[in-house]
Amino acid sequence: MTKDYSEKDLLNDRHAEREWMVRTQLIDRDITDEAVIHSLLKVLRHRFVNEDKQEFAYYDTALEIEAEQTISQPYIVALMAQALGLKANDKVLEIGTGSGYSAAVLSRMALSVYTIERHDLLARLAEERFRNQGYKNIEVRVGDGTLGWLEKAPFNAILVTAGGPVIPDSLVNQLALGGRLVIPVGDKGEQHLLRVKKTLENELIEETLGLVRFVPLIGTKGWNEMGKSC
Ligand code: SAM
Repeated sequence: MTKDYSEKDLLNDRHAEREWMVRTQLIDRDITDEAVIHSLLKVLRHRFVNEDKQEFAYYDTALEIEAEQTISQPYIVALMAQALGLKANDKVLEIGTGSGYSAAVLSRMALSVYTIERHDLLARLAEERFRNQGYKNIEVRVGDGTLGWLEKAPFNAILVTAGGPVIPDSLVNQLALGGRLVIPVGDKGEQHLLRVKKTLENELIEETLGLVRFVPLIGTKGWNEMGKSC
């Protein structure tokens, strides 16, 4: 498929590219949640990466960002957002703000998003992007996300966008009854994307959604800086 953009499309903050991305990378695969599709159509992914990466922003790939981290592939963001099964009134916790892109995607589908990033630089850049683009329901904090955000708990949904060795019990504890946690768990090369549902009866149901490759989740309940499980 070739991309053919008119001058108007380019002025329209690259809407045609997002339509192409959503059709070929999401709908042609297995993304069916209308709210997810609509959100990825609206969020300006090119504004979450450095200028030298902007031309690739709607390609089917993760891209490098500052602090040697990555902005996830659009399809993976959509897959995880779909797995969370968000409702308009949900309070969401994200671990791994990175560029801020996935928090922006989630914020269009939920009431509020709390996002934690361990790199101060990334947190500050993401906050600036949220402010410049008018996202008002996202709160950013610098810290170790493996411990969650106790003061704001419980959460209806928790998304972890880095791969850890285990499911942190702190995050499971901060999940509301009926809540969903999506997290990549495995070794540093490859992980299983897991979804944990906490039923209204406080039971946990775990499912595997497929294999993924994420940067490491580094923290008290993740890997240590040397790459060992804490
Ligand atoms: N959600 C991001 C986006 O849309 O750009 C992609 C995140 S990137 C794949 C993973 C992020 O998790 C990195 O920015 C990394 O610094 C962060 N991270 C790793 N361990 C963390 C921890 N314990 N707490 C908070 N952030 C963490």
